[in-house]
Amino acid sequence: MALKHIFPILTMLILFACKQKTKVDSLYFNAKIYTVDSAFKVAEALAIKDGKFVAVGSTKNVLADFDADEKIDLNGNYIYPGLIDAHSHFYGLGRFMQQVDLTACTSFDEVIECCKLFYQTNKPALILGRGWDQNLWTDKNFPSNEKLNDAFPNIPVLLKRVDGHAAIVNNFLLNRAQIDQSTKVDGGKIVKDATNKPTGVLIDNAVDLVTKSLPQMALTEKIKALKLAEKICFENGLTSVCDAGLEPEEINLIDSLQKSGDLKIRVFAMISISEKNVEYYLKRGTYKNEKMNVSSFKMYADGALGSRGACLLKPYSDEKNHYGFLLTDKNKMELYVRRISKSNFQLCTHCIGDSANRLVLNLYAKYLGENNRKRWRIEHAQVVDASDLAMYKKFNIIPSVQPTHATSDMNWADERLENDRIKNAYAYKDLLIQNGWIPLGTDFPVENVSPFYTFYAAVFRMDNQEKPVSGFQTNNALTREEALRGMTIWAARSAFEENKKGSIEIGKFADFIVCDIDLMNENHKLKIRNTKPKQLILAGKKIK
Ligand SMILES: [Zn+2]
Repeated sequence: MALKHIFPILTMLILFACKQKTKVDSLYFNAKIYTVDSAFKVAEALAIKDGKFVAVGSTKNVLADFDADEKIDLNGNYIYPGLIDAHSHFYGLGRFMQQVDLTACTSFDEVIECCKLFYQTNKPALILGRGWDQNLWTDKNFPSNEKLNDAFPNIPVLLKRVDGHAAIVNNFLLNRAQIDQSTKVDGGKIVKDATNKPTGVLIDNAVDLVTKSLPQMALTEKIKALKLAEKICFENGLTSVCDAGLEPEEINLIDSLQKSGDLKIRVFAMISISEKNVEYYLKRGTYKNEKMNVSSFKMYADGALGSRGACLLKPYSDEKNHYGFLLTDKNKMELYVRRISKSNFQLCTHCIGDSANRLVLNLYAKYLGENNRKRWRIEHAQVVDASDLAMYKKFNIIPSVQPTHATSDMNWADERLENDRIKNAYAYKDLLIQNGWIPLGTDFPVENVSPFYTFYAAVFRMDNQEKPVSGFQTNNALTREEALRGMTIWAARSAFEENKKGSIEIGKFADFIVCDIDLMNENHKLKIRNTKPKQLILAGKKIK
């Protein structure tokens, strides 16, 4: 055959070979995909096989190379990596949903009315509630439990404050827990009236004194709580959550539900620190699979600013000679730090006040040294003295922050922190600059679950009324790109999971959401805040 005949045949063969498309499970195309890779590249289409991304690129190229039974035209909608909450209380959210919701109450009388209504509807053997915040009431003093005793003389009532660091209980429960005016507590406070009688308000470790005497939740109720929490997380676009403090039984329960397929969400479970748990897990080692990651401990250094349990360097401006307190004894903290520093576990410590931050930064520094790769975290890093900021960078310590805390607290935080101390608070940009990355979370159920609230608060530093008009301490606002990274790849990185998730890249879990809003360019601020994803895909499977 003449050469001139062979060339066209060869060309056709090559073309035919090229047209052989690779079969995958599903294809999504005609989208604007924020991949959140290192270059923050935008793509149009992606291909999924066996729960992972196998291609990310232009619609033209991906459709030319791949075929699938499931092909989804997104008509210009937006795709983001599955959102990750770097600090939340997943199981706590589920339990919260089974309790009296007190977040909307505007007075203590209303709190009691809510409890009465809950009792009439549910006839429970005990009343648990959460979410009251005296900072939002006309009378900003802590309430006292007289009216609660009148309404519920014969069953235990425990109502946690919005931050989870304080509670008001009735006398029935105080008596059952044998708390009276002589009871002492370290790392907490039993609030008393002028006659030295407990008012029912308990702060930090004092709350544990009464919870010990409450009956355990039934297994079926626990499972119900976890499934409900998962449903809410999915509705809000979360494909992974951190649970900042779980007991081994709870971790094992979540793990077994994930294995049976009853729970699908990915969980980074921090182990609640205790001698028993440290002993157990250091022997057992870290535990990781595609859904569960158990490789860190959660320690509490101090309490919260709202209930004046945050440990400050100088006294509270609105309570004379009061510095807050440590929840864990200093020497005990050092023992934990030393022990865990010798293992491959990560340590994440709750620090709100500038004194707690300084103490824990120094403890970490002592045992980790410079240029370590342990990614030990400080949770909240809420008030950090300017002279301590550089410690984060010097010792590679990761601040893990919750932007909605800034906008929830901004109307009263300066009453606690006068004389410019407020300038050192909620300083997310200053903290970001230290390591060049920062994980973001919500601390739900302390705050709303929605990661879009986080994005809005981080970027605009405003409340739901777009107040203050120029934003709160906007020198510490994050850019849109930084906020999105904080909710995806940096959140993954804070759990050593950046090679598996947090961005839309080949080889990573096919976890993503579809929205009808362009987070990078939308001008209508509240539209961003109120967004809900239209679709949520986890491991390539459509959940929502
Ligand atoms: Zn928390």
